Amino acid sequence: MTQAHAGTALITGASSGIGAIYAERLARRGYDLILVARNRERLLALADRITTETQRSVEIVDADLNDRAGLASVEAKLREDASITLLVNNAGVGTHKPLLESDVDAMTRMIDLNVTALTRLTYAAVPGFVARGKGAVINISSVVAISPETLNGVYGGSKAFVLAFSQSLHHELAGKGVQVQAVLPGATATDFWETGGLPIEHLPESIVMSAGAMVDAALKGFERGELVTIPSLHAGEEWDVYEAARRTMAPHLSNKMPASRYTDA
Ligand code: NAP
Repeated sequence: MTQAHAGTALITGASSGIGAIYAERLARRGYDLILVARNRERLLALADRITTETQRSVEIVDADLNDRAGLASVEAKLREDASITLLVNNAGVGTHKPLLESDVDAMTRMIDLNVTALTRLTYAAVPGFVARGKGAVINISSVVAISPETLNGVYGGSKAFVLAFSQSLHHELAGKGVQVQAVLPGATATDFWETGGLPIEHLPESIVMSAGAMVDAALKGFERGELVTIPSLHAGEEWDVYEAARRTMAPHLSNKMPASRYTDA
């Protein structure tokens, strides 16, 4: 079933896994697509399939977001194409390896993709969304944003950045017609695990969600206007309690005087 035109969604990391599912689901919801990743063959095959199944227009951009020129080309598209109404910042890499077993250059490349590219693409898209009074940004974070002890610390830190950046964007842009969502997937069955050095077969089956189920739940959260969506967290009120504690603390975090526990003899 196809639907009325919903604008164009630009999805990074669309050649596989979560990004490829977003592409398919958003096309079915009436979006035209711009699919970004490095693997041109996979992008072409996905674009062909989606066009055949949904008749939506699908453009592919083979760009390496770790490469300055590649990133700049996607930024330019976001600035110049006024048909874009949704940016899905999904491209990302991670690993489970601890600091002592990981290479700092690989960690820096991870930050460049998970943090710098996501930030630059958001900066490229948002001014146009604000000027047109309409647009949305979906940022793919991770549950490790709030559980940094689970996998590699740089990966957890990069995803904590994505969560904090999304919360701040929501705070700044909510009154300007721009919707922001941070999605925090738990373990999801994609190439991510193999690429990061831990084949998914090593995880207990009971904690691994299919990419289709994850994206369907995340899109339900998006359509409900949620800022933070954690598809695998059954007790949703646990997030509400966590968030309420943060907000209770916020007004008390700056003070002329140190807390008495640090000044008492
Ligand atoms: P995936 O199947 O490995 O997908 C990663 C995507 O990013 C691929 O399309 C890859 O395409 C693209 N990519 C990687 N490096 C790139 C670069 N330098 N430039 C442009 N594109 C690049 O893994 P996934 O699980 O779907 O990951 C998607 C997002 O979900 C990531 O941000 C990840 O951190 C997040 N996440 C995943 C899980 C999980 O358990 N799978 C859990 C929480 C969060 P090319 O190789 O073609 O460039």
